[in-house]
Amino acid sequence: MGVRKVGVSLAVSVAATFFLAAGVPAQSGPPVEAGPFRAPDLVELTSLDPTIRLDIRYATPNNFVQRPVYTEARAFLQRPAAEALVRAHRALAKKGYGIVVFDGYRPWSVTKIFWDLTPESDKDFVADPKTGSRHNRGCAVDVTLYDLATGKVVEMPSVYDEPTVRSYPTFDGGEKAARERRDVLRRAMEKESFFVLPWEWWHFDYKDWASYPIQDVPFSAIPKTVAGPIPR
Ligand SMILES: [Zn+2]
Repeated sequence: MGVRKVGVSLAVSVAATFFLAAGVPAQSGPPVEAGPFRAPDLVELTSLDPTIRLDIRYATPNNFVQRPVYTEARAFLQRPAAEALVRAHRALAKKGYGIVVFDGYRPWSVTKIFWDLTPESDKDFVADPKTGSRHNRGCAVDVTLYDLATGKVVEMPSVYDEPTVRSYPTFDGGEKAARERRDVLRRAMEKESFFVLPWEWWHFDYKDWASYPIQDVPFSAIPKTVAGPIPR
């Protein structure tokens, strides 16, 4: 998911209804953007550091659309963001944690699938394909933590993609220990120039997201080894 719009005006809703009723065809490709942009350089996260763990929910039926939308369980970010994530992961090790990635770069077509499968009443929770998602730019990542001592994914104040206030990074209910882990993750990510979404503790945008274009390259077209591990 990744977007919760606020203040959608009645005028916009009415206009959208009119255009739908008038039979304007659905958008068939990514939005055309003027740029200029940096050249995309998507890097496979586990190629930089194989101790980053993956739990790619969108490659399984265990996600909010209850069907796999990725054919491969892989995760990518643009190189500067990927390297920043590795630094955050290594800093977290000093506190006994490692990073688990739920999602990174997301092809635009998948954002379109999410939009099309989401009922009108819930569309505030998904990115509009007209503008795309920062995941489409390879500069947003959904993450949680695992405990280095036990190898287990930690409990956080909410589960991934939970559309409730428990997902807000400012939520102050639930267990104190879970909130503290959430805050440890946030601080480590912010130190590396990622910014948390105000309603999803797991979603972080990299500072340079606007410098990269929306992409629609399928995972299968991205080479398996595009980077050697970053030395410790
Ligand atoms: Zn996200």
